[in-house]
Amino acid sequence: MLQITNLSKTYPNGVQALKDVTLNISNGMFGLLGPNGAGKSTLMRTIATLQDADSGTIMFGDIDVSKQKQELRKVLGYLPQEFGVYPKVSAEEMLHYIARLKGIANDKERKELVKALLEQVNLYNHRSKSLGGYSGGMKQRFGIAQALIGNPKLIIVDEPTAGLDPAERLRFNNLLSEIGENIVVILSTHIVDDVSELCKDMAIIAGGKVVQRGNPEELVQGLENKVWSKRVGKDEVSHYQSEYKLILAKLSGGSMKVYINNDTDPGDGFKPEHATLEDIYFSNIS
Ligand code: ADP
Repeated sequence: MLQITNLSKTYPNGVQALKDVTLNISNGMFGLLGPNGAGKSTLMRTIATLQDADSGTIMFGDIDVSKQKQELRKVLGYLPQEFGVYPKVSAEEMLHYIARLKGIANDKERKELVKALLEQVNLYNHRSKSLGGYSGGMKQRFGIAQALIGNPKLIIVDEPTAGLDPAERLRFNNLLSEIGENIVVILSTHIVDDVSELCKDMAIIAGGKVVQRGNPEELVQGLENKVWSKRVGKDEVSHYQSEYKLILAKLSGGSMKVYINNDTDPGDGFKPEHATLEDIYFSNIS
């Protein structure tokens, strides 16, 4: 169990990136969803011992993360947002190198591990190719392979599908979903579908604060029968914004559609919609 308690962080330029964040995260896939600038990477880097908060604590089991960084690093697998690779080194060589760094000294054991990882992330046929020639999706799958070395108990993946095309994203998410249920996996993302596809537990973070927390399906259930939509002119959006609790206005088939939250049928030409996690997201970040 990962227990984050009253975590706050202000950068030297005065930006308060985390404001009293408290989250308890159990085993399984946890989605941390929020817009750009919400504080996700700050939180991920702090859990990964790469930077310190100003106040608050993070406990992973009985490891006090800010005080026992080496202990935490031994059980951590981390795929950072900006994942640099040595372009001239092959995936196989790089995994051997990282495995050696993580203390797997036995040649035979290391060879078996590297082979198994390359197969798991579906890169075995590309094992000798230099990493510089990998596509975005292949790099991210390689990133998961390196994060899995050393049987981590806590895996952090920071915005892994940003920049992937739909097929690469699907492949990457399928791979993530295979990672055990018996460890804590935190998926930080601004992509709502990543969370609805993968996570049983989630939080929405905005402006450095946790603004929503729970099981995605239950959150959506709570909004069911309360979402209404209507096609409107682009210049009418501000009218609906002032008249109703607007969830979002989005283009659909070239025209504007507004989605509102209303406990009962608002009439006025609105139609009922099924609630989605996107509605939960937009209701909470604006
Ligand atoms: P996210 O990962 O959700 O996009 P970040 O944690 O990267 O959010 O950023 C949160 C806020 O902190 C943003 O306003 C960002 O500009 C600011 N920020 C992030 N890193 C730094 C830094 N090293 N120095 C100053 N401000 C930073």
